[in-house]
Amino acid sequence: MLVIRRAKQIFTSSDKYGILENGSVVVEDGRILWVGPDEEIPVSLEKARLIDADGMVITPGFVDAHTHIPFYGHRADEFEMRNMGMSYMEIRERGGGIRRTVRMVRRATKEQLLEYNRKLVRKALSHGTTTLEGKSGYGLNLRDEIKQLEVLRELNESEPIDIVPTFLGAHEIPEGKDAAEYIEEVISWLPEIKERNLAVFVDIFCEKGVFSVQHARKLLTRARELGFKLKLHAEEFERIGGAMLGAELGAVSVDHLTAINEEDMEALAESGTVAVLLPGTTFFLGKSDYAPGRKMLEKGVKVAIATDFNPGSSMSQNMQFMITLAGIYMHFTVEEALRAATLGGAMALDLQDEVGSVEPGKKADILLFNVPDYRYIPYNYAVNNLRMVIKDGKPLTL
Ligand SMILES: [Zn+2]
Repeated sequence: MLVIRRAKQIFTSSDKYGILENGSVVVEDGRILWVGPDEEIPVSLEKARLIDADGMVITPGFVDAHTHIPFYGHRADEFEMRNMGMSYMEIRERGGGIRRTVRMVRRATKEQLLEYNRKLVRKALSHGTTTLEGKSGYGLNLRDEIKQLEVLRELNESEPIDIVPTFLGAHEIPEGKDAAEYIEEVISWLPEIKERNLAVFVDIFCEKGVFSVQHARKLLTRARELGFKLKLHAEEFERIGGAMLGAELGAVSVDHLTAINEEDMEALAESGTVAVLLPGTTFFLGKSDYAPGRKMLEKGVKVAIATDFNPGSSMSQNMQFMITLAGIYMHFTVEEALRAATLGGAMALDLQDEVGSVEPGKKADILLFNVPDYRYIPYNYAVNNLRMVIKDGKPLTL
């Protein structure tokens, strides 16, 4: 038994428990047994392991529901080129962009890919992410897509973080192929991925000039028949109908949504599909068209915030900073943003009964921040005020 006591605040992300002042959490067998005021701890402290959270703020572990781990190699030079005024298309013509990462991932051995991403995942954990979604999509052929998914499985088994794998074979059109022909190939890979249980979700980059709504419908309908859960990259640059398709097919989430309209929001609110918002991408690309998060909340859409961690358009694992961006650019209260980064992320992975809040029955994935108030976390921006990560009831050394 573990008792974390004398926290200044516990931000539970739970409607029932809200924000507790001067609280404690009791943990048993990796799960939360009890949360409440210090003076009401229902167990004997003599036999328990005690953690004194004096003056600190407790939150649930972050659930980062959209990353592009595992990848290989960096594109720091392209970041500088963009800042100096070169367009993405020019960079792409010079051999940069997603296809460059594809080449690097294809060339890497599974061992190299595993060790490279182990470091990236540990950095996410050290910033408070205890559950993370990762995607394939830099292989674009069966062998290398499977290599990526196997790396996610090995990372999940060997690191304390929980990793949810997504198959994103339809991330980009491989050089020399057309979209319709490639979608048929991707569909033909689904049974093997299902049989080997390598992915929970199937996702697609549904965007003008990449994969159309018709391609997405074909792939996702087949994926659903095989028992996969569904996600879509939708309405990032232009509104072409991906969000509506997600709502219609019962996708667990639709992600990006910078070009979404009110009709789409109503469809998402109706279907219960989670909107995963990625303010880090808009920020890092130097753009100003943030997804209309405030309006989505008002329309009753379930909302999550995630990093979109990838080597091109969002090179950060720091969910604390995403909360800052959601406040400034999407006009979320800190309470709304923190919930979107924890319970919202859990809903976007269909794990809301397991993680995302500090309440009895859930996994004991708990963060201790050395700050005087939960609102201080995004306010003291782009630095890491995390003092301790507890994963499955175990304090980690970071
Ligand atoms: Zn993405």
